Formats: sequence, C-alpha cells, structure tokens
Amino acid sequence: MTGASYRFELGKFELLIVKDGTGGARPLSDLVDDIPSDLVGHEIFMEGGLMVIDTPEKRFLIDAGNGPNRGPRTHAAEVAFEKEGITPQSIDTILLTHGDPDHIAGLLTKGGEFVYPNAHYVLNIDLWRALNSDPDAGLYFVGQTDFVRRLADLIQGRSTLLEAEREIWPGIRAIPALGHRAGHTIYRFDSENTVLFHIGDAAFDPVFLEHPELVIPAEYKPDQARATRKAVARRALAENALIVGSHFELANIGRLKQAQGKDHFQWVQQSPG
Ligand SMILES: [Zn+2]
Repeated sequence: MTGASYRFELGKFELLIVKDGTGGARPLSDLVDDIPSDLVGHEIFMEGGLMVIDTPEKRFLIDAGNGPNRGPRTHAAEVAFEKEGITPQSIDTILLTHGDPDHIAGLLTKGGEFVYPNAHYVLNIDLWRALNSDPDAGLYFVGQTDFVRRLADLIQGRSTLLEAEREIWPGIRAIPALGHRAGHTIYRFDSENTVLFHIGDAAFDPVFLEHPELVIPAEYKPDQARATRKAVARRALAENALIVGSHFELANIGRLKQAQGKDHFQWVQQSPG
C-alpha cells in the first residue's frame, strides 16, 4: 500500500484526503436488511481514512484512521503524510466525527502516547461522555476500554466539547449529526463561497444519500441516523454544497440533485481536483 491520497482546493483552503488501506468493496446487503430491488447486487466501497485541511493560518485534521494501533496496520496514512510533507507535530486541531476504532485508534501510539502531540481536539459532548463512561455504549469499541480511558485522560483539558452547531474557526463549522454513534458530528467548510460538507459516517457511501430511507441496523440509533441522513442531504442540496464522507472512494466528491419523490436525491460526482 502506497498511501493513497487526493489533494484539492476549496477557495483558500487546501484539502488532502488520505485512505488508510482498510476496507474495500462489500455488498450493500451486508449493512441493510430490506434492499430495494434496484439496489440488489449494489456494492459499496467502505475504505476509511482521514482528511487534512490547511487554512492560511492553521492546519486541521478530521479523524485519525486506524493508525498503528489496529490491524491491518497498513501505515498508509504515515506514508501519505511523508509524501506530502505533513508532520504529526504540524497538526493544530483535530476535528472528531465519532469514536469508532477506524476513526480514532490512530490518535495514540502503541505505547499510548499522542501521535499528534500539539493538537487541540474538537468533539461532541456525547462522545466525550461515552469515552468517560461505558465505551461500548455508542462507540463500538468493544473490549478496548484501556485505549478509550487513556485517550480520555490525555485529551482532557485540551478539548472543545460541542453541545450544538458552532463555528470552530472562520469558515469551519461543527454540526451535530446524531445517530450513527454517540455524538456523531459533521463539519462544514466554506471558503470564497464554495461549501463542502465532510459528513463522516452519516453516510458510508453516496447511495445512502440517494436513498436516505435505508435503515442500517448496526448503527447506534438507526432511526435517528436515518433522520440525520435526510437532514444532511437536504441541507447539502439547499446549499449546493460539495460532499465527502469518511468511507467514500478516494476522490469521490460530489453534489446532490433532487430526484423524483420527496427525500430522494441523485449523486453527481464533481471532484474538484
Ligand atoms: Zn467509519
């Protein structure tokens, strides 16, 4: 694995998507029970990763991928960072979407120290509570309580805890998008009138935005997650915003168009790179 990455510009922001070499194509039927007939046999991609956002003043990172803590340990992110000249020390702020292992395991080294030693953290207060109480409730971090506790200890005092939508930095907003896991949060970037939503796991694949009615039983609160998907799709459509998700295929960035029927949308890939 060479560390697949994709760089593009959004107004004055420079963005870099990095795939961490895990996941791969799997049938939609793995995740959804009742598949509409036109989606039978549909495959989704599901490779995780992270995204770096360079504003003129500060460097942000969305999530940290699997990192060196967790199999299959592709080290794809490290390889991509090295290739792009990004050092862990240069990350100023980490914006967390949620607390699943494929999103936060890469925050700590195997020895339990910070991978990004200078970073401040932004996370939803419900995620913070989950890290500090029963980590399996809404985290899907079964059996890894030590990691969760260590992380909570380390980031205490260097975190911004979100209770509602708010601006983190000029042009960067954190928006609660609850349901997938405890405190799931998406991020909106706006520079020179171009808007992009990073929707985390609010949809694993654009097909879930096209069909926001699909229910994924493995989500923490499936009904809430489904309502959130609809709200995210409507808002992105209303703002004519670009959308990228944590598990979308590399360079699959697009916009939604209204399709026939209420809450049905069409994905149009419009990768800006
Ligand atoms: Zn995920």
